[in-house]
Amino acid sequence: MNRILIVEDEMAIRDLLQIGLESQGYQCEVASDGEVAADFVEQKKYDLILLDIMLPHVDGYELLEYIKQNFDTPVIFITAKSQTKDKIKGLHLGADDYITKPFEMGELIARVEAILRRFHKTSEKIEIGNITINVVARTVEKAGEKIDLTPKEFDLLLLLVQNKNMALYREVIFEKVWGEELEFETRTLDLHIQRLRKKLDWKEHIKTVYRIGYRLEV
Ligand code: CA
Repeated sequence: MNRILIVEDEMAIRDLLQIGLESQGYQCEVASDGEVAADFVEQKKYDLILLDIMLPHVDGYELLEYIKQNFDTPVIFITAKSQTKDKIKGLHLGADDYITKPFEMGELIARVEAILRRFHKTSEKIEIGNITINVVARTVEKAGEKIDLTPKEFDLLLLLVQNKNMALYREVIFEKVWGEELEFETRTLDLHIQRLRKKLDWKEHIKTVYRIGYRLEV
């Protein structure tokens, strides 16, 4: 399980980040000012740090410098401003990525996953119950038995897994899995969902969310 430190002084955003990341299976710790965060970073080991820039006591830039000079932990900084100079400064100080407030949880999680993958902090494999997904080889096993999925079924499965316990809008699923390939919505999505439910024996897990779309419940 990946451990993430969230450094953010605004409680609402801190809570949002913590809840969002924990729902994805990450273990989170929080710090509301730069000094506490520096202590945490020194005493504990994290796989990733989410760092707000405007912080009391020690600001995010200082903390970023301190982290990068002493540890090899990847950092994504969070900036309220969409100003280019903040991004450049943060990246110049060694941040691995940034996200601008307000952000969408889906985007944040995608960035977190990308950074963890880049730093090899995450395995190629995702396990849910007796299902093992190898993201790199694009294979799926159920209790050790290989399950054949079409490329679209695999993409759909990955999208559901990466957004587990969150309702996904049909439009969003369509856009992410089919992109430009289909001009208007058809029953394709529903058919693919049915196939996944059957092949993985996930009738209970892949829920239909009325008027929205689908949610993987695990
Ligand atoms: Ca702040």
